[in-house]
Amino acid sequence: MHLFFGIVVHNTKKIRLKKIQYKAARSVTGLTRSVIINNLLKEVGCVPLSDRRKLQKYVFIYKEKLGLLPEYLHELFPGTVQEIINNQYALRNSESYASVARRTEVYAKSVIPSSLSLWNNLDSNIRSADSLNAFKNKLKLLYQPPTAPNYFKTGERFSVVHHTRIRNKCSNLNYDLYCNNLRQRPMCDCGVEIENADHYFFRCRRYSNQRLQLFINTRQFHTLNTNKLIFGLDNITEEQNSELFQHVQTYIKTSNRFKS
Ligand SMILES: [Zn+2]
Repeated sequence: MHLFFGIVVHNTKKIRLKKIQYKAARSVTGLTRSVIINNLLKEVGCVPLSDRRKLQKYVFIYKEKLGLLPEYLHELFPGTVQEIINNQYALRNSESYASVARRTEVYAKSVIPSSLSLWNNLDSNIRSADSLNAFKNKLKLLYQPPTAPNYFKTGERFSVVHHTRIRNKCSNLNYDLYCNNLRQRPMCDCGVEIENADHYFFRCRRYSNQRLQLFINTRQFHTLNTNKLIFGLDNITEEQNSELFQHVQTYIKTSNRFKS
């Protein structure tokens, strides 16, 4: 294990931290273990831990450039290409660091070589930021995942959770269960076709009355399709999307398809 400023932690600790992050995200969203991790993190607007460690490494190298690291760490750095060849002309990669001789596998995995190789591949516009704050802001823009809109989260928890699960393909609809290896057949209990989100919202005869109500209430958003019902629309306001979602969630609740 190599540890500089808490950047690199032991593998088992990394796994434990990830599990805590995922568990917290699942608890907030109500998503199940079947959800794809990136989708889970997108729903909560979280930067994955692996990206957070990269960000720490970039900052570590940027601090070395500013001379903010203690001498004993500075001495471990190989110097930039510019310094080594002592070239008076600016080279395109002159701000890159020369590769470190990787004497052992353990050393190769340690913080400095892996940070340097990340640094060398970082966009030069970001590397040339003129202050630590500007540097961090540029990195944030690069790594911050798009935040899920507020209307994804508003409403009564039971319906919001099942709506979110349908959006992330980890609901109790038979097709989702089948795809997640939790059920042998994807067919709907009505026997007509597979029970995916399309069938549930638009075709299953068991929810004809609830569907009629949904169609009447959402007249202003027609023509409807499953994508609109689970992601909202780009060309309407946040409030209108909230209204649309409220009606979809009423459908989810009154259909009684999902149990708490
Ligand atoms: Zn059906």
